[in-house]
Amino acid sequence: FHDRDGFIWMDGKMVPWREAQVHVLTHALHYGSAVFEGERAYGGTIYKSTEHSARLRRSAEYLDFEVPFTVAELDAAKAAVLKANGQTDAYVRPVAWRGSEMMGVSAQHNKIHVAIATWEWPSYFDPATKMKGIKLDIAEYRRPDPATAPSASKAAGLYMICTISKHKAERKGYADALMLDWQGRVAECTGANVFFIKDGKIHTPIADCFLDGITRQSVIAVCKTLGFEVVERRILPEELSTFNECFITGTAAEVTPVGEIGPYSYTPGNMSKVIMESYSAEVMPKSAKAA
Ligand code: PMP
Repeated sequence: FHDRDGFIWMDGKMVPWREAQVHVLTHALHYGSAVFEGERAYGGTIYKSTEHSARLRRSAEYLDFEVPFTVAELDAAKAAVLKANGQTDAYVRPVAWRGSEMMGVSAQHNKIHVAIATWEWPSYFDPATKMKGIKLDIAEYRRPDPATAPSASKAAGLYMICTISKHKAERKGYADALMLDWQGRVAECTGANVFFIKDGKIHTPIADCFLDGITRQSVIAVCKTLGFEVVERRILPEELSTFNECFITGTAAEVTPVGEIGPYSYTPGNMSKVIMESYSAEVMPKSAKAA
């Protein structure tokens, strides 16, 4: 991945892709002091760029550091990288981390770095394949208690249990894993939020110990516009057998229907399809929508 053409924005400058490097004694590498974002550009415009820039800054505050660029500067930098790479439809990855001046748990004065990369990452599947639904394993690791970890932060360290869980799921032939929370309730996937449909209503867990995804918020708004009732509540694994449809949401996953969770199966239906299509329309830039 490191060996390709193109540009990465690093600490205010556009750097050739292969030269965007860090030292091995970087605090973030040893102690997980990094936060990141995942965004998508559609038709030349990053969907909810400002919300993502604000979340990057907030994520860093939870880790006790300040991103040394404003929301407006980050938005401009992201647009500049897309332009430099000649991309209109791409995934955008900003990351901010503590640098390498001091090595030890405490690194109060280490420089905070920011980089932004972009790459082509088409939708996981075409709509027809998507409607077959992906298969989810149920992960052993649980989302931590917010008193144990800064769970509202999109912090690199919180992804350790996600990578382990997703690898394990993939080895068993699943696409991803559904994670429970520290109290044993249904939480989210390793990089996406989860929704269920039963009797014409949408149900989704309360985002009190995991990321309240920007896609999750958009999909809730889209559902309300469509006239679907959305209930945010505590969902127990015992209930998984009672739902008719299930889908996951995230910047990378967009809206992806689920066909199986462990022993339970779902049949992606009309409601999932309408929500998936409405989200696709929602992310298109306003100018393209009007055309
Ligand atoms: N949960 C986790 C753990 C994630 O990594 C993501 C992807 N950022 C999400 C939820 C969905 O967030 P968003 O819709 O903002 O991409």
